[in-house]
Amino acid sequence: RSVDPHQSEFHQAVKEVLESVVPVVHAHDEYRRAKVLPRLLEPDRIVRFRVTWEDDEGEVHVHRGWRVQHTNALGPYKGGLQLHPTVNEGVLKFLAFEQTFKNALTGLPLGAGKGGSDFDPKGRSDREVMRFCQAFMTQLWRYIGADTDVPAGDIGVGAREIGYLFGQYKRLAGQWSGAMTGKAMGMGGIPMRTEATGYGAVLFGSHALKHVRDETLAGKRAAVSGAGNVALYAAEKLIAREAKVITLSDSDGLLRIPGGLDPAGWEAIREIKVDRRGSLSDVPAVLDGTEFVPEGKPWGEACDFAFPCATQNELDEGDAKALLENGVRMVVEGANMPCTQGAIARFRDSEVIFAPGKAANAGGVAVSGLEMAQNAGKNPWSRERTEEELETIMQEIHDRCVEEPTAKTDGGVDYLRGANVAGFRRVADSMVASGLV
Ligand code: NDP
Repeated sequence: RSVDPHQSEFHQAVKEVLESVVPVVHAHDEYRRAKVLPRLLEPDRIVRFRVTWEDDEGEVHVHRGWRVQHTNALGPYKGGLQLHPTVNEGVLKFLAFEQTFKNALTGLPLGAGKGGSDFDPKGRSDREVMRFCQAFMTQLWRYIGADTDVPAGDIGVGAREIGYLFGQYKRLAGQWSGAMTGKAMGMGGIPMRTEATGYGAVLFGSHALKHVRDETLAGKRAAVSGAGNVALYAAEKLIAREAKVITLSDSDGLLRIPGGLDPAGWEAIREIKVDRRGSLSDVPAVLDGTEFVPEGKPWGEACDFAFPCATQNELDEGDAKALLENGVRMVVEGANMPCTQGAIARFRDSEVIFAPGKAANAGGVAVSGLEMAQNAGKNPWSRERTEEELETIMQEIHDRCVEEPTAKTDGGVDYLRGANVAGFRRVADSMVASGLV
């Protein structure tokens, strides 16, 4: 039975998970009897609402907002908010579904959700973004809370947006509680949340490389896509681990850095992308040894590692073929579902180490889980404590993936299957234990 056939990203994500978990369900009578799979394919609920706000010229705009509350089998619904013109219900359903397995893999008490709107914050003034965020939260606030549903940032939702959203939440709820994560430090945030997803992806990649090949990242070339939160901090961690970051990209195109990025160059790019909300096309004017290719993608570059960190389906089968021809040896998904099914099939049929997003980019939500613990305990965490905990969690996520039977015929490890099965079993066991709810 095909439900919501137009929601192609959701179908793509489901297909990928089913391939791994159907044999597990067949081997466990209790999962089959409790109909765990059909229950997991249907979100607990989806809230959809209208968001009306006024721009600086006094013109009124109407947008759609959503919150997909996928499952609270393991804890409060948890997952980010996206603000991007391409956001729709199918995309958010796919992201909430993926989030279910990712959050389970962290080992923390986190359910799964995702939300957002088709509003585009790009080019809007701070006051306009504030008015939009306030209008969005006016609709959303009654469905969230520290023990029910805890949204966070994601594409288009950074510290500025979280500040406005959380400010409005406090105003409406009449209380301070940890109903959102990704907050600024002065608002109850935790150190390192901004860096956590990118750092975590590199930590996962380095564990996988050590486990499969007994190698380190040092001296190898990494092609990174994106220039947002995940990409920038993946690049920073790669530089710290002495890898050569040879590309970044954004919605305008590709930045080539053939000699590799150094910390000063990284800071110059961070300033352009984060402080000035600019474009990578501005970089060559301030950074020698870089070249901007309008509308280019990083996947034609000769590299050892690919870190797709921009958005879903940004690396297709043709890109995978080019990467393989150019000698790529490991692909780490920093973004959610950045590789198409055709690309994943190519990587899994090769000797490449393929680290799926639900495991590799779980560092962000894990640190969000720590922020929830910090807020509930009303006791601020230090950067050292958070960093240590993130490192432990990424090691544990890696180990959970390889605990499952994941050996490939070529002697490698099928991390995709490992992540799907380990995440699924944790959620399925809790669903069975909770009865028919
Ligand atoms: P940001 O909005 O900070 O950055 C996204 C980057 O990707 C930007 O540089 C953007 O370009 C670029 N981009 C977006 N869409 C396209 C496109 N269609 N083509 C080319 N470039 C594009 O988002 P995040 O870094 O937070 O998120 C990136 C990915 O990681 C998403 O898939 C997200 O769901 C996932 N993720 C994020 C987590 C987090 O903690 N932030 C946690 C786990 C997963 P431009 O700069 O021009 O806008």
